Amino acid sequence: MPRSSPRKKPAINYSEDADVKPSAAKPSAAAKALANIKEAASKADAEVVPKRKAEAEAEPGTNGEASKAPKKRKTQAGKDAASMPLAERTAVSSLKKAMYIGAHVSAAGGTFANCVAGKPASVNSRLLGIGVQNSITNAAQIGANSFALFLKPQRKWANPPLAAEARDLFISGCTQHSYSAAAHALPHGSYLVNLAQADEAKAVQAYCAFVDDLLRCEQLSIRLYNFHPGSTLGDARTAAIARIAAQLNKAHKATKTVVTVLENMAGSGNIIGSTWEDLRDIIALLEDKDRVGVCIDTCHAFAAGHDLRTPAAFKSTIDSFNEVVGAEYLKAFHLNDSKAPFNSNRDLHANIGTGFLGLRAFHSIMNHDAFRNMPMVLETPIDRKDPDGKTVEDKQVWADEIKLLESLIGMDPDGDVFRATEKELQARGAWERSKIQGQVDKKSAKDAKKGSRGIGGKAGGKRKKKVETDDESG
Ligand SMILES: [Zn+2]
Ligand SMILES: [Zn+2]
Repeated sequence: MPRSSPRKKPAINYSEDADVKPSAAKPSAAAKALANIKEAASKADAEVVPKRKAEAEAEPGTNGEASKAPKKRKTQAGKDAASMPLAERTAVSSLKKAMYIGAHVSAAGGTFANCVAGKPASVNSRLLGIGVQNSITNAAQIGANSFALFLKPQRKWANPPLAAEARDLFISGCTQHSYSAAAHALPHGSYLVNLAQADEAKAVQAYCAFVDDLLRCEQLSIRLYNFHPGSTLGDARTAAIARIAAQLNKAHKATKTVVTVLENMAGSGNIIGSTWEDLRDIIALLEDKDRVGVCIDTCHAFAAGHDLRTPAAFKSTIDSFNEVVGAEYLKAFHLNDSKAPFNSNRDLHANIGTGFLGLRAFHSIMNHDAFRNMPMVLETPIDRKDPDGKTVEDKQVWADEIKLLESLIGMDPDGDVFRATEKELQARGAWERSKIQGQVDKKSAKDAKKGSRGIGGKAGGKRKKKVETDDESG
């Protein structure tokens, strides 16, 4: 691992790099990215493994490694190979539009043998347990120009404070790899936190975990913090929204600079944030409007009934967002295709171009001037089966998707390259789309029989037992 990036291939430097490889802007890059994606897909298994599980499980493994620090030396060669760049980073200045595309990378990695050396195991494990600094090398490895990360194990309430060493390594890593933590890092909040929680003790717990994350952002010079608005848990929506706003107002006062970024959601029922109106209503109650923003997850938007597939649908969705919420609040994107059909309220991320959204939606996004300079992070599936049938993460998928998306900037959507790529990717996702469509149709028929409004019914139809056990939580 880049225990000393200086020894390795020099860190990516935008300005110096600018004339070397605007390759992504050329059509051939799309073809190449596609070829890479093809190869990966041929190895892919159809089974969906929730990607965040891998992230959640990273911690114990990493800690385990820390306690056996001496062994690291033996496996260093393997670790170096594991951190080899999977793609060069594209100089954003070489792109026709300044789009900062990246992915939600792991904070695990054991990339800092340098800080482990000579320190007691207790210190190592503290460092390794948090590992925010690993996200930088993990982002650089896939050629990402922005990245998301978890600031601490996101399925645990209690976590040790951010270690000064980890903070310093994160900050120096950003400098070394030319990342602006303020502009292009987009941490993702914990799934445990529900700011709409009505129960007093649970609300306090949620608030504390939330503010703890915000404080970590400020320690790391991160400006944007993305989180899920919350769930009514069956209570009245207006009251739940008021509770979220009250928590945010309090959190803004307890911190100084970090902007709390509401993510739009896919689900219906109790889930808050699948309509632009929910987001608008939360923002309306906030005292400091400079401290709030919105991150549009393309999969969630589509599943919640905001179409993006054609240029006309894209325009109408963005117009409605601007009208209801306000363009000034849009701060970031989660770029995901959708395995589930339009308005199905299901949160199933698909690889870019393979889902029901399709490549044309991403072409529209990549060529929209107003979206420049924002972090745009992939949360697409990268789990693959290795030859032994073991599930492994193939980060090459993200490396290739980043290049594919960059290649769409300025590409003629009526040209042969786009058409061929679009067709190929749609063919790749056909089986999965038809599988999920079948589930949705079945549920819809069942609901119709019961006289409910069925899928897309946003009239608060209660969501009974989840058929969709594989839904993403991202
Ligand atoms: Zn999602
Ligand atoms: Zn999310």
